[in-house]
Amino acid sequence: MGSDCLFCRIVAGEIPATVVRETETTLAFRDIDPKAPVHVLVIPKEHYADVATLAQGDPALAADVLATSAAVAEDEGLLGDGFRLMFNTGAYGGQEVFHVHAHLLGGAPLGPMLARNLA
Ligand code: 5GP
Ligand code: ZN
Repeated sequence: MGSDCLFCRIVAGEIPATVVRETETTLAFRDIDPKAPVHVLVIPKEHYADVATLAQGDPALAADVLATSAAVAEDEGLLGDGFRLMFNTGAYGGQEVFHVHAHLLGGAPLGPMLARNLA
């Protein structure tokens, strides 16, 4: 994917980001437009478009993303009060960047899961 993908460019160091954790396979960095006191994006370094493609294509790498998310949650002091881990996926999910990323949100009560009940 590379130069066409914003998050591949962050992995390559071509676009700056505030990195909070890096492993061999994953990168965690602060969201540029935070929606909560803690808002970190956790990505695999390898390009997958979304969480379904990642989970089906490389389950071990999907597990790495979860493990890094948990480590960041611990580092940020979120384990006691809790947090939300979220993968927006596709058009209905409101995904804007098509390099899979977990949103790790916390540091305050996050309110209902959705802004309104769609059921
Ligand atoms: P999505 O809507 O795809 O689930 O989330 C994309 C997220 O990426 C948004 O929360 C947005 O604020 C964040 N974002 C977009 N561009 C950048 C950037 O250049 N750097 C960082 N750190 N975050 C970004
Ligand atoms: Zn990418």
